[in-house]
Parts: sequence; structure tokens; C-alpha cells
Amino acid sequence: MINAQAVLNLASLINHDASVYEVEDEGLLAPEVALLEADGLRLKTPLSWHIIVRSTGGDDDYILEGEVEGVALMECRRCLDDVEVAASSSFVYPMIYKAGVEKLQLREDDSEEDDVLVFGKPEVDFAELITQLFAIELPLTALCREDCKGLSPDGINLNEHPELAPEPKAEEKESPFSVLKDIEL
Ligand SMILES: [Zn+2]
Repeated sequence: MINAQAVLNLASLINHDASVYEVEDEGLLAPEVALLEADGLRLKTPLSWHIIVRSTGGDDDYILEGEVEGVALMECRRCLDDVEVAASSSFVYPMIYKAGVEKLQLREDDSEEDDVLVFGKPEVDFAELITQLFAIELPLTALCREDCKGLSPDGINLNEHPELAPEPKAEEKESPFSVLKDIEL
């Protein structure tokens, strides 16, 4: 089932129920528009996620381990057509329970080098974290194919109309930086 949230109920961990050491779940996440826009993300498919939160034995300390994968849509940097870009991420974070914290937060920990996740309610929605971690795995730009011909000056896709592509001239093949080799530093 596809959800707009990725909620785990950590009540048994917070309450130190002796028989429960970890809470695990997985699902398909279709993030809300606001989350997608915050990360400049367009998705081809929902994000497939899997999360385990383990008790570490400390009073309010936990470890989160998870994975996310999915397929995003990005514009080809030359022809602007949509390109499907698959990405995945595995992540591990320390988690701390602090009563009163409304919503899952990623905080920098002064004493440690790793960021730490802080939560304050038994029901934790990981949708924002999952969406962000997926988004940062994506390349900055994409190409529909290595030899994408791009657009003509009139905006025509030259992959579809290769006959409109200008014949490359010999000097244009040279790097625009080739003049630099004549500059003495
Ligand atoms: Zn292209």
C-alpha cells in the first residue's frame, strides 16, 4: 500500500518493554507535494523504504538503520526531456527520545561528529527524512543518453530531428579553453 507517511510506532521502545528491542517496518512512500517541492524532487515511482529502530540499552538512546530506493524524474540537461534516474541510500543515525519534541528533527550533536535524530512522540513519521535522504543521492544533472544532441536554437529536440543539427566545424570541436594554453602564467 502506498502512503504519504512512513510512520513507526516506537511506544514499546520508549516504555522499555523488556521483550521488545527493535521496531521494524517497510512501505511505499508517496511524499506530500510540499516535501517534494522542498527537495526539488519529482518521482516516477513511490519510494520503497525499510527502517529498523533498535534500543541500545541506554535510557533514551536508539539506533536507526534504514534504506530507501526509488526512481526520480529529472530533465536532461541538454534536451530537457524527462529522464528516469534510479537512486538508493542506506543510512544509520543515533536517535534520542526527548519528551515534548513535536516532530522528528535532525540535529547536529555537539559532542559527536554524527548528526542525531531527535523525536518526542511514540508515533514517528520518517517521510521527510526518507525523502531528503533519497533526494541527496540524485546526481545534480542528468543526460537522457551520452550522445544527446540537445536542442536547436529554435528549441527543437535534435534527437528526434537529427537532420536539423548543424554540421560541427573543425574548430568548434576544440575545447573552449584551448586558448589558455597560449597564455603564459
Ligand atoms: Zn537529452
